[in-house]
Amino acid sequence: MSAVSYRAVDPGGQPLCLSFTNTVNKRPDPDRDDLTSLSATRAWAIAAGAADEARLASLAECDLSGLAQLRESLFVCFSALARGEQADEAVVAAVLRAFGRASGTATLVWTSEGIDLCPSPNRRGACLVHDAVALSAGRVLMTPADLRRLKECPGCHWLFIDSTRAGNRRWCSMDTCGSREKMRRYYRRKSAGLEDAPKTG
Ligand SMILES: [Zn+2]
Repeated sequence: MSAVSYRAVDPGGQPLCLSFTNTVNKRPDPDRDDLTSLSATRAWAIAAGAADEARLASLAECDLSGLAQLRESLFVCFSALARGEQADEAVVAAVLRAFGRASGTATLVWTSEGIDLCPSPNRRGACLVHDAVALSAGRVLMTPADLRRLKECPGCHWLFIDSTRAGNRRWCSMDTCGSREKMRRYYRRKSAGLEDAPKTG
């Protein structure tokens, strides 16, 4: 049986579990949710590296609510950690159960950075996406260096690991939330008579 095509980080360099939580934005009133349909969920899972198309064929509409539940549990835990707070115990227990279930059937692989856990080659559909995300979450939760740099964008509530050298990244992206905040500041200054052209970058 061929190995699962699986990446621990998404193409943007963020852990898969954070890419998963970021499939919805602006909680609690999102204006975008990438897991509301089967096709969108498949597209996300493939693009993020959670699974390949063939192994997602069995993903069904009825699986989406379970994946959304896992997503919200992970968001609550990581959001609390990003703020240096304690997450709700019941939610922590749900995340631990998800990791336990995934790691119980995971395959051990040898990498350039040591031993890692990959989803079982027998996993398909929702189980595969669940395990890929849960294993990624477990990896972040057991990596203090990642947790120290875990942040939540104040604009859209996306979660990310700040990999800047100075560790002072505040926004998910300077092209979206960061530039919106700069424009807001510019117009506040302008309306106060302190006109100052907005800088970019
Ligand atoms: Zn943002």
